[in-house]
Amino acid sequence: MQSNTFSQLIQTSQTKLNTLLDLTASEAKFEAQLLLLHVLNKDRAWLITHENDVAQSNINEAFQALLNRRLNGEPIAYILGYREFYGLHLKVTPDTLIPRPDTETLVEAALSKIPLHTSQTQNIHQKKTILDLGTGTGAVALAIAKNRPLANVIAVDISQAALNVATENAKSLNISNVQFILSDWLSALNGQRFDLIVSNPPYIEGSDAHLQQGDLRFEPLSALASGCDGLDDIRQIINHAPQHLNAGGWLMLEHGYNQVGHVASLLKQAGFNEVSHVLDLSGVNRVTIGQI
Ligand code: GLN
Repeated sequence: MQSNTFSQLIQTSQTKLNTLLDLTASEAKFEAQLLLLHVLNKDRAWLITHENDVAQSNINEAFQALLNRRLNGEPIAYILGYREFYGLHLKVTPDTLIPRPDTETLVEAALSKIPLHTSQTQNIHQKKTILDLGTGTGAVALAIAKNRPLANVIAVDISQAALNVATENAKSLNISNVQFILSDWLSALNGQRFDLIVSNPPYIEGSDAHLQQGDLRFEPLSALASGCDGLDDIRQIINHAPQHLNAGGWLMLEHGYNQVGHVASLLKQAGFNEVSHVLDLSGVNRVTIGQI
């Protein structure tokens, strides 16, 4: 194999990533750098001062192996084994959905309903209890728990493999106010009530062509697709949530850009009030909330 500097390696792989995957030139360069830094076990600052170093053959081979996986479409988050979400470094595996920036909208919406405890307000506000349904990597539950250390967060998932990843994330981030429970939506939570229930459930239509494209091909289908209209799980959550909310409690659901009307009417039919929508970073109605 011909010897290359790190900078040359990045340039040739940037071109391949840009041509073969649906990535912009800057995304392609960023991904090429991430893969190389992963192999080198170094950070970006290091690369700036070493970009003209020649890559040793073992590094080059390991890098080409990761690059080929990426060129075959495997998500970069699964190759690297992590994803940043709401300032948290989260382990991700093929057992978990890859956390999306859009879902940070759900975290923001939840935090806006949980007062920040200060020494003055500590005695006035009771500790809030929050439930995250279908937690996956734990992304939403951990982001809420980290930013509201006095809240008690329960996070459930139907997949024990996902819960293992979420538990590992809580440990490595040193977040102790989250408890993980194996449950098919609310089924294992008989008699328990919360102040806030949040969920990023599967909501893609079963026949949606996007399921056969990009990262989605590699992610757990059970975390993405939900029946013909994508609303099977959302319907189930909305129907059961009222028995698990305290008076005045909120349900907050992430959903598809075209499901906003459906989710709002399902919430109203189930007795929720104050139904409103929250825009994601791209200006799309991504989260709908209602109060019981
Ligand atoms: N928003 C994701 C996507 O469209 C899907 C996540 C989900 O189904 N909850 O790629």
